[in-house]
Amino acid sequence: MADIIQLLPDHVANQIAAGEVVQRPASVVKELLENAIDAHATEIKLIIKDAGKTLVQVIDNGQGMSVTDARLSFERHATSKIKNAEDLFQLNTKGFRGEALASIAAIAHVELKTKTEIDELGTAIEIEGSKVKSQEVSVTPKGTSVAVKNLFFNIPARRNFLKSDTVELRHITDEFHRVALAHPDLSFVFYHNGGELFNLPVENYRQRIVHVFGAKTNEKLVPVNESTEVLKISGFVGKPEFSKKTRSEQFFFVNNRFIKSPYLNHAVSAAYDGLLKEGYHPSYFLNLSVDPKTIDINIHPTKTEIKFDDEHTLYAILRSAIKHSLGQFNIAPVLDFEHQEQFNTPYSYKDKMAKTPSIGVDRAYNPFKDQSNHKTSVKQNISYTKKHNESWESLYVGLDSGGISSEKPFRELSFESDTKTPSIFDNEARIDAQKPTFQLHNKYIISTIKSGMLVIDQNRAHQRILYETFLKHITVKEATSQQLLFPIVLDFTPSELEIINQLKEDLEHTGFVFKAIEENSATISGVPIGVPESEVSIILEQLISDIENEVPDTNFSAVDLLAKSLAKSLAIKNGQSLNSSEQEHVVNSLFACKEPNLSPTNKLTFITWSVEEIEKKF
Ligand code: ADP
Ligand code: MG
Repeated sequence: MADIIQLLPDHVANQIAAGEVVQRPASVVKELLENAIDAHATEIKLIIKDAGKTLVQVIDNGQGMSVTDARLSFERHATSKIKNAEDLFQLNTKGFRGEALASIAAIAHVELKTKTEIDELGTAIEIEGSKVKSQEVSVTPKGTSVAVKNLFFNIPARRNFLKSDTVELRHITDEFHRVALAHPDLSFVFYHNGGELFNLPVENYRQRIVHVFGAKTNEKLVPVNESTEVLKISGFVGKPEFSKKTRSEQFFFVNNRFIKSPYLNHAVSAAYDGLLKEGYHPSYFLNLSVDPKTIDINIHPTKTEIKFDDEHTLYAILRSAIKHSLGQFNIAPVLDFEHQEQFNTPYSYKDKMAKTPSIGVDRAYNPFKDQSNHKTSVKQNISYTKKHNESWESLYVGLDSGGISSEKPFRELSFESDTKTPSIFDNEARIDAQKPTFQLHNKYIISTIKSGMLVIDQNRAHQRILYETFLKHITVKEATSQQLLFPIVLDFTPSELEIINQLKEDLEHTGFVFKAIEENSATISGVPIGVPESEVSIILEQLISDIENEVPDTNFSAVDLLAKSLAKSLAIKNGQSLNSSEQEHVVNSLFACKEPNLSPTNKLTFITWSVEEIEKKF
């Protein structure tokens, strides 16, 4: 048989390598920023257009490149950072694989301009899909500018795979945060579509964190400092009461390189043992310095995972250092999350002073009284929405305004039981309205149906109910809003505000009223009826993180996501005890939904157990 193996041409090899190194515009941002830092730049400018799809450009004032180096930098395995394999274990630079520029140039239009200190004139090179289009002498300041345009121009499949601008910009911002936090001693500016998102001067670490995440962060931070033979730790952890529902403020840097480490993350969580509410995550910004010999960075092309020689020791040191800091700042004893976790007060203002309700509520009004009416008049779409809305409102309003004494838990609110049997619900599964419902483990509602038994997940079911309500509000644009007596000002980072701006209109249709959206904050003067003031920031935070983490498919819809997120935030939680009227209300509203059997995230809301199945068990 004839020989069939051949070496791949360079441009093909580069494209393949690019698949590993460059997943999205944010990967380019990371590589270019790291190159600027490796070149000892002190001022770095990041310029982005259309979330990086049109342009990613990094300009630095670093050491620049000579004419030959400029050309060589685009070759694969061309690096000035290591000379032999041993150097891999003495790394003081971010890069070393020599494949970033080659990979990027294989899948984009790249323009490089660079000049060293000693050269009079600089060099300009243009490359498209690994082909050098031009190289000429250029008048340019000391340092390097790399502009990457039309990413994935020659790989349409990859280009189509890119997510919405919101999502891609979020990834870019994440990379920027990681680099900016690792280097408070350098100044950074970040522009998107001509607008300045960040302008960070040289500053100390605390100032840098506050600059990136907003002024409110300052009071959250507890310093951590520990120095042992194998490990030095410096940085900050967040006070437990400021823990977040998302992991967006968790940063480990090992020798100034951002890394992900579930194992070390566990060590931090262990230090907070007993201090956090379930589902909440601590913030941390921790710099670990270790001897480069004791780590291996070369286990992943994007270098965000590393291997430590002695993970166990690091775990123990980290955990005890954080415990010590939390203890020293007297944080542990004052907290009483046990109490906060009680489910009878999730929407109340338990710890607040009594205040005048901001809206008038007819306390005699029983929200559930005419539910059966609206369900029989399905054609009257508008009135349906409204009624539903009001019922939902009254579920919580009494609690907020103190109209019902705060001692009186959620479950004691009285509901008039509904005895309707929604026609959309097929015969087989019809609920036996005469029979009582039970709650199991404060998590499931058990009801009987003709053929056997129904087990409903209360949280998922309520999510479905709220989700459909919100969707209706947004599309019918008919939600009523509850005016706040005093507008609330919430701090957001510029990138979070981008998201809010994009969703503003839809949010307004759910009942939010934005009085102003400024550089670092949003002023909210109205909220959807039923949303307690105290929950607003959590709801919006959750929403932003949902949008950021969404991996939207082609029919990505912000409206849908918004409704899902609000439903998730406001739904009855597992562990919450419900009285029988509330249970019935959930059951009945669920089966009045268009799609009762699935939660908004496509999980089963209930299961049925037929009598035969039960009989088989005996
Ligand atoms: P690596 O960073 O792994 O060495 P790259 O492909 O990212 O590989 O870069 C190749 C080489 O180009 C680097 O080793 C460096 O010598 C040079 N280079 C890249 N970017 C810059 C820059 N901004 N300033 C100076 N030199 C640079
Ligand atoms: Mg590099």
